[in-house]
Amino acid sequence: MESGYSRVAVIDFGGQYAHLIARRLRELGVYSELVPAAARGDALEAVDRYDAVVLSGGPQSVWEAGHDDIALKALSSGKPVLGICYGHQLLGKVAGGLVSRSPYPEFGPTEVEILEPGDPLFRGMPQRFTVWMSHNDAVLEPPRGWRVLARSRGSPVAAMRLGPAVGVQWHPEVSHSEYGFELLGNWLDSWGAVRGWRPEGLIDVLAEYVRREVGEGVAVAAVSGGIDSTVAALIARRALGERLKPVFIDHGLHPSGEVERVTRLLASVGLDPIVVDASHEFLGALRGVVDPEEKRRIVGKIYGEILLREAKRLGATALVQGTIYPDVIESGARPGADTIKTHHNVGGLPDLGLKIVEPLRYLYKDEVRRIARQLGVPEEIIKKQPVPGPGLAVRVEGEVTLEKLAVARMADRIVREEIEAAGLGEALWQYFAVLTASKATGVKGDARSYGYVVAVRAVHSVDAMTARPARLPWELLERIAHRITSEVPGVVRVVYDITSKPPATIEWE
Ligand code: GLN
Repeated sequence: MESGYSRVAVIDFGGQYAHLIARRLRELGVYSELVPAAARGDALEAVDRYDAVVLSGGPQSVWEAGHDDIALKALSSGKPVLGICYGHQLLGKVAGGLVSRSPYPEFGPTEVEILEPGDPLFRGMPQRFTVWMSHNDAVLEPPRGWRVLARSRGSPVAAMRLGPAVGVQWHPEVSHSEYGFELLGNWLDSWGAVRGWRPEGLIDVLAEYVRREVGEGVAVAAVSGGIDSTVAALIARRALGERLKPVFIDHGLHPSGEVERVTRLLASVGLDPIVVDASHEFLGALRGVVDPEEKRRIVGKIYGEILLREAKRLGATALVQGTIYPDVIESGARPGADTIKTHHNVGGLPDLGLKIVEPLRYLYKDEVRRIARQLGVPEEIIKKQPVPGPGLAVRVEGEVTLEKLAVARMADRIVREEIEAAGLGEALWQYFAVLTASKATGVKGDARSYGYVVAVRAVHSVDAMTARPARLPWELLERIAHRITSEVPGVVRVVYDITSKPPATIEWE
């Protein structure tokens, strides 16, 4: 075991929670990576390369999928193996137990009874507790020589062990499972795992990964000034030196002052970007387009085309992107659903014919933040509020025109100024203005005016998966409304969005 921490491969059979296993193991201080079972060669090789192996859950039945060789190799390696749900069933099958439809499929909270409290897996746990299950099949009889460690109503063999190999039918990785985190920690301790891994220690591994993927070539990094693309580019810079070309595409849809701010910040970390002014192309392509999904698609398409053009001009063969794990999950490109090479269209970029390199694709935001601090990224970038890829195109409802962009930009600037002046910026996840597609009547200077409605949005969130509206001080909201209606031509009304996510999303389009 080199370098102060153990390494655990999570063979991903496509289970819903597979990524959570790796996440928990990292929290417990070992390095863990998902290896898609669909990339069979990689999965078999992972058994040799890692100190221990977890076999994840999966949607299939062990009788329909041909994954036996992976489980057999893991078992015969003599390394610690932990099968979870599908992985547990797979161990049961290949070792010769009886695996079949359970007479009582279990979904959700399920009580388990520990039969071998002396097993290191259950150290510090009571005899009965409630765990999270989700299965149709079950190990009904253990393979010969395996000890049954626990049972539940629908799982006569809810946990089992033979030497360094254990299987559990439930999902210790989900927070609904009592003692789940403890169970994973106990498992690590049971084989003497070295728990010294920190995300900061990943920098060299990721740089090595980029070096291997890009080879001798040149890579472009699409930078936006956000933390993810900045960290990805910095890691690539470390790996490739000047063979990494950071490119910032100005689509003309940025909030006020954004381009200057971003280029200054990037330059301060040594990533002086090549700035491509393409606002005309974007605005031209968006003319007459009203549908939000269509706007997103067009912005993605033009962005891809320009990036490709730049890449060709610079002689690049690879594209470094700051995709992080939640992007991968939300886009539906599930690791394990396919081999790594095919699922690179995250974020709506069309296929570019460039090799896509995503060093952060298995990392969560808080891990990226820790790496960013280690790399010396300024707090202004780390704390910067997220701006959607299509920028103001999705904050101007309906058709995007130069005039509407100008209105949205001015209103947005006032929202930012006021919230920051009130000292509330840091406490909020995002705050911005939306130029709605509604028009309303107002009265200005005794005359009827008919004009735009601006919506103000300010939310709290931890990871953007859920959000709740911020309870901004009333005086602040009134000041914002007053300033927008008096300073921004054409706006007669300001409303405040008090919807949470779900059911709404953070952005309006
Ligand atoms: N598909 C298997 C079953 O239904 C395993 C489910 C799982 O891994 N969550 O039993």
